[in-house]
Amino acid sequence: MLGRLATWLRLLGFDVLYPKYAKDTELVFISLTQERILLTRDTGIIKRRILKDYLFIHSDKWQEQLKEVIEYSNLEDRLDPEKFFTICPICNTPLIEIKKEEVLGLVPHYIFCENNKFSMCPSCKKVYWKGTHINKIKGIISYLSSKTSIPGNVPFSKNSSDAPPPVEM
Ligand SMILES: [Zn+2]
Repeated sequence: MLGRLATWLRLLGFDVLYPKYAKDTELVFISLTQERILLTRDTGIIKRRILKDYLFIHSDKWQEQLKEVIEYSNLEDRLDPEKFFTICPICNTPLIEIKKEEVLGLVPHYIFCENNKFSMCPSCKKVYWKGTHINKIKGIISYLSSKTSIPGNVPFSKNSSDAPPPVEM
């Protein structure tokens, strides 16, 4: 499952759909019609000839998965601190900034006191503040920019003639 990967990509400001219960045909359809790169750990779906852009995710650890995506989709240059916390990590909706007084009673008192900037998801109504998350993001950014590459990882796209890599279960 790539749920945590999706959450983290959204926290970093990337538009990521994560249709949990979609069938393979739906995923391929979404990828084609919305020109999205399909991220998958499923070797079955990448054999579908119609699929154009995908990245096969090797690792089962979300930190390494994130590194795979950032490295092999060339997203390093698009890691922009201005974009962090601009998309709801739960539902992928762009967040809107709200005034501090509007979150009174919606967040724990100490959170209200310690923070001045808040945003809200207009879709799922969840309230966000940078708080301690920003340190987690800084940590993951330094991990992503470290030179340790994931061994044996090669990106594949239908644009190349390479066969998908085998998977060890
Ligand atoms: Zn939301």
